[in-house]
Amino acid sequence: MPFPSRAGVAMQAVLTIDLGAIAANWAMLRDRMAPGLVAGVVKADGYGLGAAPVGRALLAAGCRHFFVAHLAEGMALRAVLGPGPMIAVLNGFAPGADEDAALVPVLNGLPDLAAHAAAGRRRPVILHVDTGMSRLGLDARELELLAAEPGRLGPLELRYVMTHLAVADTPAHPLNAAQAARFAAARARLPAAPFSFANSSGCFLGPDFASDLSRPGCALYGVNPTPGAPNPMRQAVTLAAPILQVRDIPAGETVGYGATWRATRPSRIATVAAGYADGYLRALSGRAVGILAGRPAPLIGRVSMDLITFDVTDAPACHPGEMIQLIGPGNTPDEVAERAGTIGYEILTSLGARYRRDYLGA
Ligand SMILES: *Cc1c(COP(=O)(O)O)cnc(C)c1O
Repeated sequence: MPFPSRAGVAMQAVLTIDLGAIAANWAMLRDRMAPGLVAGVVKADGYGLGAAPVGRALLAAGCRHFFVAHLAEGMALRAVLGPGPMIAVLNGFAPGADEDAALVPVLNGLPDLAAHAAAGRRRPVILHVDTGMSRLGLDARELELLAAEPGRLGPLELRYVMTHLAVADTPAHPLNAAQAARFAAARARLPAAPFSFANSSGCFLGPDFASDLSRPGCALYGVNPTPGAPNPMRQAVTLAAPILQVRDIPAGETVGYGATWRATRPSRIATVAAGYADGYLRALSGRAVGILAGRPAPLIGRVSMDLITFDVTDAPACHPGEMIQLIGPGNTPDEVAERAGTIGYEILTSLGARYRRDYLGA
């Protein structure tokens, strides 16, 4: 017999984002990387947490350099932050496409450079040199061409030369040192300019990875930049979802699509209002835990679009309307990611649009 749902209870999951923790994480990295400066990477809507509130919080903390991936993200962020800070667009954009938003294009190859130089305007740009990602950035041949003919830059002002680390979260990987060496060699061939190197994990690799401007993203949001070692960052996200119903089922009964979970004893099942449409990944089926009254309860059966189910047989009495914690202490984004076979970045950037969002310290 299902217990009735409680009328009048707001049956919506609540995502709580601690802007104070994000600002504190940025300040920790600023102190760590000084005298180099530290940017805030707020692409993908601030890793799913809200580029506008996160951007405002970082600006208030003293951050003056921001990175986004898309032109549209940059335009929106400029409207939020006002004219002061640098906003760079990692994927680049066509000359003039930023209108009067004064965004800084990242030039990812000689064709990008040629297009912006041909526009004839003096403007700051960031030149991206590939040192081991083979994704974006000038390759070795393009670097030689530019080194031989620096006049290709025309009126463009090299605000930074940057590269991006491929394996910074694996400190012992030899590619880290190789990228540092390739980057130093590339800079020596280019006109003198400030340079930008480390992502979050790179900030923990030591002095060879220091630069004029580090570019942390995930660490600001509490993802561990030093996997395998204790997380030096503060947690910024909690997600709690309401129990819609609690029901008792007999031994032998199954739960959910595919009937993948079968009760081996009389069991009590709590059905909770979140699902893969909210970014609670289907890969968590049968693998996650919710925290109920401070104790873990196993997620059972498949994650469906709007609902998930927990075995609360051994939990203290629980009732419709009570909240079960899906992300937070005891199930951090990194821990949830581990159970889903992914990384904390994907857990955060998947967070859905149907949650109520509460910002602390806004
Ligand atoms: C996403 C990104 C970053 C930030 O990386 P994190 O691992 O989240 O710190 C820095 N630089 C570039 C080029 C990126 O694409």
